[in-house]
Amino acid sequence: MLTIVVAPGQQNEWGELGVVSLVRNIWVRLVDALSRAFVPESMWQDPVRLREGQRVVAFHFSLLVWCPPFALLTTLLDAHASAFFLLLGIPLVLLSLILLRLSANPKLCGNSLCCVAFVEFTLLAIVSGGVHSPINPWFTCLPVYALLLSGARSGAFWTTAAAAAVSALVIGHRLDIMPLSELTLRADEILSYTSFLAFLTVVFLMVWLSQDFENREQESLREANQYLAVEATTDTITGIPNRRYFDRLAEQEWKRHDRTELPLSIVIFDVDYFKQFNDAIGHAAGDRCLHSIAQGVQGMLKRPGDFVARFGGEEFAVVLPNTGDRDAARIAEQIRLCVKGLRIPHPNSSLSPYVTVSVGSGTIVPVPGDCYRDFLREVDRALYRAKAGGRDRSVHVAAAFADASLPV
Ligand code: GH3
Ligand code: MG
Ligand code: MG
Repeated sequence: MLTIVVAPGQQNEWGELGVVSLVRNIWVRLVDALSRAFVPESMWQDPVRLREGQRVVAFHFSLLVWCPPFALLTTLLDAHASAFFLLLGIPLVLLSLILLRLSANPKLCGNSLCCVAFVEFTLLAIVSGGVHSPINPWFTCLPVYALLLSGARSGAFWTTAAAAAVSALVIGHRLDIMPLSELTLRADEILSYTSFLAFLTVVFLMVWLSQDFENREQESLREANQYLAVEATTDTITGIPNRRYFDRLAEQEWKRHDRTELPLSIVIFDVDYFKQFNDAIGHAAGDRCLHSIAQGVQGMLKRPGDFVARFGGEEFAVVLPNTGDRDAARIAEQIRLCVKGLRIPHPNSSLSPYVTVSVGSGTIVPVPGDCYRDFLREVDRALYRAKAGGRDRSVHVAAAFADASLPV
């Protein structure tokens, strides 16, 4: 919905003054309200169709500015012709709205409107002076309206139709079968100006509306992109960042620590005997277990830069920026105790009645030439040692990577 509020005298993001913006707001609100009445519910699901439908509705509304020149013209014609055009015009113009309400393609409704205009213009031109009729310039509206309502192909079609109608009037005049204009010169002039203004107003209103649609589309596109970005980096089972996110962020941190020469720590932990867990109580329970572990550890990490991601299968990885050996080893141990503290029953573990994890951690101050992947491999090796050492424990590997591992 519309939320732009600009004080008179101030400019909004389009460089419009407050008053202009206010008029635009009223116009767009009006179109929104009318759309609710005429655009069928099925079209609200599809943003493209909705915009097309709204355009048809808006166009009908903006056609009201054509009423004065049209009424003027009919008063200048003889009474029978006036009644005929008024009676024929109104239901035909409403036909496209009815079609829209019946869920017809909005482009078809736009074309039906152009068809009505074409028929009316041609008949009016014939009875009001043929090629000399002041309404002949009205034919130039057709391609523009068709383009705005139904797209380029319709625009091209109605350009041809309008050109054909005007050519037919010229030929009719040459063959002397068209009536002469019965309008006075003054009436001719007034009609030309008012209809020209009406034409410009309709185009202006439609362009204004299209600009608003464009802004709304960009807004929803931005929202959709944000949503996709989160979706693409979140693991569906655990609700925490996935491996792709981990790799990107961890590598970023690696480069940052390379510059700042501060210690970076990484922890990798793996659920013990998870295959048995799954075999005993099922894969769905296994998924729930992974979710609880992920959420538990995520809740445990307090510092803003720390994050846990699903590394793969039943393995998780934690990045701890600006964290030295001692703190990393302590946090690794806290993670192990945190998971155990969740007290998720493991029916088939020789270690504990509850689900446990083995934890490997490492700390490094990256220096140019060091490889992030090598560091990760070392941390993984620490995890392997924790597994080999009996599981349900943590092993920390010091920066030098040598044999400086210290079981906690
Ligand atoms: P270890 O103590 O040596 O780590 O033994 P383990 O059984 O945990 O390890 P193993 O590699 O033998 O088995 C891992 C199991 O994790 C097997 C696989 O079905 C399960 N697993 C991996 N990803 C998922 C998942 O997304 N959901 C569930 N429910 N299970 C998973
Ligand atoms: Mg495991
Ligand atoms: Mg594993």
